[in-house]
Amino acid sequence: MADYQPTIGLEIHAELKTRTKMFCDSLNDPEEARPNVNVCPVCLGHPGTLPVPNRQAIEHVVRVGLALGSSVSAATKFDRKNYFYPDLPKAYQISQYDKPLVHGGTLLGVRIRRVHLEEDTGTLVHADGASLVDYNRAGVPLMELVTEPDFTSAEQVTDFARELQLMLRYLGVSDANMEKGEMRIEANVSLNMGTKVELKNINSFKAVHDAVTYELKRQAEALEAGEKLRQETRGWDEAKQKTVAQRSKEEAHDYRYFPDPDLPPFETAVFEPERLRAGLPELPAAKRERFAREYGFDPKQADWLVIEKDFANFFEDAVSEYDAWWKEVPDIEKVKRFKTQNADEQKNERILETTLIYNFLTSDLKGMLNVAGQTLPHSKITPEKLAHLIIFLRIGKITSRQAKDMLATMFATGDDPETIMARENIGIVSDEGEIERVVLDVIAANPAAVADYRKGKTASLQFLIGKSMGILKGKARPDTLKQIFERNLA
Ligand code: ADP
Ligand code: MG
Repeated sequence: MADYQPTIGLEIHAELKTRTKMFCDSLNDPEEARPNVNVCPVCLGHPGTLPVPNRQAIEHVVRVGLALGSSVSAATKFDRKNYFYPDLPKAYQISQYDKPLVHGGTLLGVRIRRVHLEEDTGTLVHADGASLVDYNRAGVPLMELVTEPDFTSAEQVTDFARELQLMLRYLGVSDANMEKGEMRIEANVSLNMGTKVELKNINSFKAVHDAVTYELKRQAEALEAGEKLRQETRGWDEAKQKTVAQRSKEEAHDYRYFPDPDLPPFETAVFEPERLRAGLPELPAAKRERFAREYGFDPKQADWLVIEKDFANFFEDAVSEYDAWWKEVPDIEKVKRFKTQNADEQKNERILETTLIYNFLTSDLKGMLNVAGQTLPHSKITPEKLAHLIIFLRIGKITSRQAKDMLATMFATGDDPETIMARENIGIVSDEGEIERVVLDVIAANPAAVADYRKGKTASLQFLIGKSMGILKGKARPDTLKQIFERNLA
């Protein structure tokens, strides 16, 4: 097959999180299950009603623009987009045509064309041969982001969509859950800058990937067969795993956009963009970069925390609690870290500590949360308790096995590590004389294993160490045991 150059551009809608709807005071509550509860004459399009713009929604879109490095238009306005459909009670949607709130900017190297504000439609429910309409969603603030056609693969598209979702969540402007329709993606796909097909009805990241991949292949095969592509809208059929024609360009709407006479143009200065900029949180890209720099994480580790925001916050709290606890540790117990003045070694020690905290959090604790069906903020383990546990591990008071067991107890009871150690008599036998007595007993009781080891069977040493560990109830460090065995078997 000939080489075709894919070109893809996205149009992404996201429902904004606000208390009330875009132009009235009906509640914006996506959780409302009863139909037609959050409605009023304004969002039902009754004659004689007047829209009042929602300040929170406008600020949300301005903040999205600031986060994308876009320009916030000094002057902007709302326009009417006219079409008839039962989910659109006014027979026009208030949107923005030629003066979007935000234009320009980039995300993951993809150029943003514009971000504008509009209102959502109601939802149709088809049941028992009838169609019902629910206007709870009608008039909910919706942002639409349009990219330049800068993507060349399905992977780039999904990466971008995930990054945008993360950014919207960081900004707190949208939950952007695709499965719930809070974020909706339309992908425009063409080959060699030829005929463009718009893909709709995409309800998950996987569907975005599958639909774009399918469409690129379909277009290439059509061109290969000498067929002419139609400029059309195609829907993703999840069951059939293919795109199907919905409407062609000839059927495209003429929306007859015109400025909404009920909503005068306005200047964005009244929303104080600089104040909004000062209030932006640390965004995913900055956080990824900082986590790599401050904690020595590789991109995958950093990304895990950036995506799991609760864990990132918990992690950083645990690190500062760790540092606070460390100051309390008597010098004599500081096993290694302060023995070295070498800057590189100090740095490696630091990475070791942060990695320990990271691993206990993202692997052990995460596993327990999953099993218990709990979320981190509701668990009984606090950053302070986790930090204290890891201090005990780092100064050699407990083994890594004991630390994991104690974490499970902490998870179940909420007790702090000191209490558990005292109650369960947990600790490490550091008296080498005591360990040596056990080693000698084990050597005497296991002549066959000793003989095997002397013949070169190293696995026998593991067996002997295991026996001793059993007698010592796991309270010795494996490396100490190994040393003492080697000394006595040499
Ligand atoms: P239209 O005038 O048909 O609405 P636009 O140029 O306004 O097209 O772009 C709409 C969307 O289509 C944007 O997301 C843009 O990136 C994308 N797009 C534009 N040209 C192409 C193309 N040749 N192939 C794929 N996508 C494209
Ligand atoms: Mg639109």
